[in-house]
This record gives sequence, C-alpha cells and structure tokens, in this order.
Amino acid sequence: MKMPRHGLMGAVPAATSADNFATYFRSFPHRRALFMSFGSTRQHSTASEGPYTMVRKQKKVGLRDLQKAHQQGNKIAMLTAYDCTMGKLAADSGVDIVLVGDSVANVRLGYDSTVEISMDEMLMVTKGVRRGLDAYCGPGKIPLLVGDMPFGSYLTVADALHNATRLLKDGRADVVKLEGGNAKAVETARALVDAGIGVMGHVGLTPQTHVSLGGYRQQAVQAESALQLLREAEALQEAGCFAIVFECVPSEVAAFVTNQLRTPTIGIGAGAGTTGQVLVCDDMLGASGAAVPSFVKKYAELAELTQSAIRQYVHEVKDGSFPTASHSKQMSDAELKRLYGLAGAQDKIPAQALGPRINPTPREEIAQAPSVIVTEAHSDVKFQRCGDSSTGATLGGRGALVGAAALSVSMVLAHSEEPGCGNARVIHSLKDVRAVVAQAKQSGKKVGFVPTMGHLHEGHLQLIDEASTDCDFVIVSVFVNPSQFAAHEDFDKYPRHLDCDVATLNKHGKTHVVFAPSAADMYPRDPRAVTLSTAVVPKAVVGLPEDSQRPHFFTGVATVCAKLFNIVQPDAVFFGQKDAVQCVVIRNLIEDLCLPIDFNVVPTARASDGLALSSRNAYLTPDQRVRAPVVYRALRKGEMLLREHPGHVPTKQLSAVVREVLESERDVKVQYIDVSGLIDMRPLDAVCVVNDGRVRPQSPVVVSVGLTMGYGEQVVRLIDNIVVQ
Ligand code: AMP
Repeated sequence: MKMPRHGLMGAVPAATSADNFATYFRSFPHRRALFMSFGSTRQHSTASEGPYTMVRKQKKVGLRDLQKAHQQGNKIAMLTAYDCTMGKLAADSGVDIVLVGDSVANVRLGYDSTVEISMDEMLMVTKGVRRGLDAYCGPGKIPLLVGDMPFGSYLTVADALHNATRLLKDGRADVVKLEGGNAKAVETARALVDAGIGVMGHVGLTPQTHVSLGGYRQQAVQAESALQLLREAEALQEAGCFAIVFECVPSEVAAFVTNQLRTPTIGIGAGAGTTGQVLVCDDMLGASGAAVPSFVKKYAELAELTQSAIRQYVHEVKDGSFPTASHSKQMSDAELKRLYGLAGAQDKIPAQALGPRINPTPREEIAQAPSVIVTEAHSDVKFQRCGDSSTGATLGGRGALVGAAALSVSMVLAHSEEPGCGNARVIHSLKDVRAVVAQAKQSGKKVGFVPTMGHLHEGHLQLIDEASTDCDFVIVSVFVNPSQFAAHEDFDKYPRHLDCDVATLNKHGKTHVVFAPSAADMYPRDPRAVTLSTAVVPKAVVGLPEDSQRPHFFTGVATVCAKLFNIVQPDAVFFGQKDAVQCVVIRNLIEDLCLPIDFNVVPTARASDGLALSSRNAYLTPDQRVRAPVVYRALRKGEMLLREHPGHVPTKQLSAVVREVLESERDVKVQYIDVSGLIDMRPLDAVCVVNDGRVRPQSPVVVSVGLTMGYGEQVVRLIDNIVVQ
C-alpha cells in the first residue's frame, strides 16, 4: 500500500512543529527529497516494509558484493562511524562497509579501553549510525553496517546469540563482528552463522584482549605465530565468516594469508595486501588532535579547524558580535508595543527596537564583516574582515566604523569591474593547482603568486594589486604553515576563516585561484611539521635580531615557500616589506636555488594612524590597539633624525631615539631596534647621510623593531620597519 501524500507528516517526529522543520530537514537534505517523492523517510527497509511500501528501494552492499570484490581483485573501503552524521557522510562518500567499532569506547567516550563499553552503549551508537545510513539516497549502495560485539557479550554461545540478535533487531546492524580466532571464537562464529547471522572475524591484534596479548603490539611477527594466524583465519573461514579483519600484522603475512583464503580480508596496520582496508574515522580525520598510530594516514586536521571555529564563536559571543539581528527573528512594531502595553511598561520601549527594520542582506554582510577598513592607500577598497573583534579600534580615532556607519560603508562595497576574477576558484589539492597553472601558462599567461596565511587584510590586497598589474593570472595561497610556529606559539589560535578570505578576494576581484592546501598534503610525513625530514635553512639570516627572537621561524618560512613555489610554479611572487627579513630569505631562496621566478616586494600597508596592518592585530585589545601606533611614531622619529641631521649617525644614537619613543608607552618591552641594509638586513654600525638627504654607504637603509605589548595572557608581539631611501 502506498502512503497517501497527506500521510507524509507521519514520518516527521511527533514533536516536530512547523517552526523547526527547517532545522529537521537541513541536516538531512536527502530525507527531504525522499520525503517529498516517496512519502516516507524509511526508504531503505528491506524485506517487508509493512505499511511503508516504497516506490524505490535503496540497494545495500551485500556479502556477495564483498565476495565478488575479493575474487575480482577489487579493493573494499571500510571505515568506523560512531554517530548518525558520520554514518551519513561515510555513505555519501562511497564507503563499502561501515563498522560501528567498540573503539568508540576510547575514541569518543573517554574509556581507557574497549573492554569497558557495555552492550547497551553499543546498541545506542549502532542505532545512531543506522539512522545516518538511512538518510543516504545517492546513486551508490548503502554501506553494509557491521556492529561490533563488545567484550563480555559473547562469552558463551547463548550470550552471543542473544546479543548478536539484539544488535541486528534493536541496533539494526546488518551483521556483527567478533574478535579472536581460537577454538571458542570459531565455535561462537559458527553458531551465529548457523543461526543466520553474518559474522566478520577479527584476528591479529584483538584490542579486547590486549592485556593477555601483552599490550597493543604487532602480532604474527614470527613464522610460527604467522602460521597460527593462517590457521585461525582458515578456521573462521570454515565457520562461515564472510570477511576477516587483520589488525597489526606484518604486511607480508597479511598478504600471504589473504592469498590462501576465499574469504575477503580487511587490514588495519596490515599493509596493502588485504582485500580491503579499515581505519578509525577520528584518526584519519585528525579529529581529536591526539597522536595516531603510525599506520594511520591523516587525511584532514579536523581538530585544528574545530578548535579555531569554537574559539571564534567564544570570541564573538563575548564581544557581542554574535548573534546579530539576522540570527534571530524580530517581533512586529505593533506587537512589541502591545507587549510593553500589556506589561504596563509603555515608557520603557527601547527606541532602537522600533522604526524601520534594516534589510537583512546588508545586515548579513555586517555580521560577516564587523570591521570595514578604508585606508589612505586604498580609499576605494572593497575590504572585508571576518570575526575581527578590533572593529572600530582598527582605525584608531580617525575612522572607526561601527554599527550603522559600518553598515553604510559595507553597502557601497562594490565588486571589481575586472572580468573573470570575482569568482576565484578555490583549490585544495596540489595536483589540481598544478594542472590549473599549467593550463594558464599554456595559454601564454604570466602567473603571479601571493603566499599568505589568510585572515586577509589590505596589506595582502596590495600584494595582489601588484601581482594583478604585473601578471595575467593571480594565485593566492591561504595556508597557516605549522613549520614556522614553535610549540609555544599561536599556531592553534591563529585566525582561520577561509570562507571570509575567499569572500574578501572575490570582492577585491583580482584573484583567479585561491590555493588552500591541507597540512596533511603539505607535510605528508608529519602534518604538524614538528620534525622536518627535509628543510631549507636560510643561513644568511641566522643570528639576525628577528631570527634570534624566533629561531625556528625562517627555516619554516623558507621550507614552506620552497614547497609552494614547487607546487604552484609561478612566474612571479609578491611579498610584503612589512616582513623585511622574510624578504631577504625569499630573495636568497630564489637566487640560491636558481628558481626561475621574479621576486617583488610591496611597501607596507598601514592603518590611517600608522599601525602596520597584520593578521595578528586581531589579538590586540581595544586599549592596546589605541597605543600600538607608537611603533610607527618611533620609526618615523628615527627616520626624521636621519633626514634632518645629515652626516654620520651612529646606530646607537638612532636606536636611542627610537627606543625613547617606544618606551614612552606603557607595557612596551623592546626586543630589538636594528639598523641594517635593505638587501641583506645585516646590521650597520652607522649610517652616513649626505647632504642631499640620501643615505650612505648602504642605500637604502631599514630601521626595524620588534617588541611586545601587554602582560600575561594579553602579550602581543609587533614588528615593523621603515625604509629610508
Ligand atoms: P601573512 O599572511 O602574514 O603570512 O602575510 C602574507 C604576505 O603578506 C607576506 O608577504 C607579508 O609580508 C605580506 N604582508 C603582511 N602584512 C602586510 C602589510 N601590512 N603590508 C604589506 N604586506 C603585508
């Protein structure tokens, strides 16, 4: 019987009111589609649908599919999942088998080992994953759902039959998995198979019995124990297991045993010779931030992303920039007045609560761009900052744009006239970016490259302006490079807002490609880049004052730039004078490694009060932001000394002048004041200024400073420099 169309509501949980339909559907867009077309979300029911007879049945990966894969030499991809969301994502991504592993115990629930998890907990998790698979309705098959039998749930055959039945009936798993290959495990597996329950075996390292195995260690390392593994696998095969997991065994052993079996094998830490592979989802996604076993390949660094998003959220809640009006619903003026009237508080209606409501589109824009900066350098700039709490403070006294004023500015932000660049292509993969560059070059385009760590500001946009003037095709990379951060530095909290950066670049309209690689792709051996197996050491800057402050930094910069240049293969690169030593490092890198790249340096972009723009200015408190322009004032004083007092100026004298200004501001700790030649940043003892105001012998000269401002948690480091021609 087909469900009548008006019966659709029956599939929505009873408590779901019209108001939260959107929420209900948003997480499961496929549900909505099926809900519309077929009248029920239970589209995947198997044999008998009862009242839910479906028009279309979603096919499942079956045991025969796995057998066929094994026979034909095709690989099987298996992944663990511990909740509905991951189940759905795994199904959407083409996973063949989803395992609700008892590893949820230590991976997600904080238990010390898998031994502690109960049958009831496993059932709850399995049901959740099944709901995720139910939501899948793509072109592929629904993955086979394997429920892990927890420790103690199959000590006797009777227990095993009882608990496996629960996993199938209550948890809605398709089949179950048991650990062990001894006679008892084989007997249990046979009893379940005889009862019509599909069983996946598991040999090698069996975590439920890790204590008796002597810990989590490699198994079957000797010929005898490898032979034993073969015998166990054969016995499980004869008992009727449809597949067998091999955990932590030498790859040669896993391959050898696989070749002896008719049954598909699934390896974890067992090399490439098994029929399929399984990984723990949280490990391969880098979801916990914890170390993972050496056999795991991390395909993402979700912990980093998650933490950065949560930090941003906390920040915005605390500074009031979230939620904005667009995140809530407003009451009509009439109802609001009535409410205050009924409460006897007519005189207390807040003025801003009444009157015309602001059009939601620009308000949304303000939510994303709490700070809009118009610098002197770029009075027409279309510039958007995301989550920058330094809103008004960024402009100091002169141009603070907050609330309604910021709104009006954001409304006049316009897209660039330049064709083809308002919709930059975002590329994550190294291979894709290479292909795109190759294509651009083939069509005769000069490729300009601007490496950044994101959280883009006007300084970055000026680099892009230069690149766009000089080149036909502009690539901007956004990558927070782990190798240039020491362990105690701000790698984790460095602002990351790729969406906002892409929006900024599109408004600016001069970028063709945004290249945002993952740490796992950039540093495949160690995505946190703690130990670099190959590094580029910029020896010429070792020992310079900025290098002494951050001894790891320039090696990290040189290494990542060498990698990026190799990947992107640009014709020209663009760097900011703001980071003067970095410019020396990159110039040397290009020359020393004979890279066919033009090197360009772009002057420092500043806020109207002189503060050099920097992504890290977001760390300044409003009070620090007001005081930070002291850095520029100090540098200008030094510059004035050189310009206004021609003759021989010892560095000591120049430094003293700069220091006096810096130390006039409270909480400032000067790290260095350096006077050096622009091209190599080597310190000079003195600067000789001839009568025409030009400096000798080194021309031009750079006066640079590094300092901290604030105490404890609120310490912010600032660097800046001024070039005296
Ligand atoms: P970052 O994202 O901080 O690694 O910076 C990326 C590039 O932008 C580097 O070449 C920096 O020197 C440059 N840059 C950063 N701030 C400024 C600025 N205020 N003016 C000009 N260039 C800048």
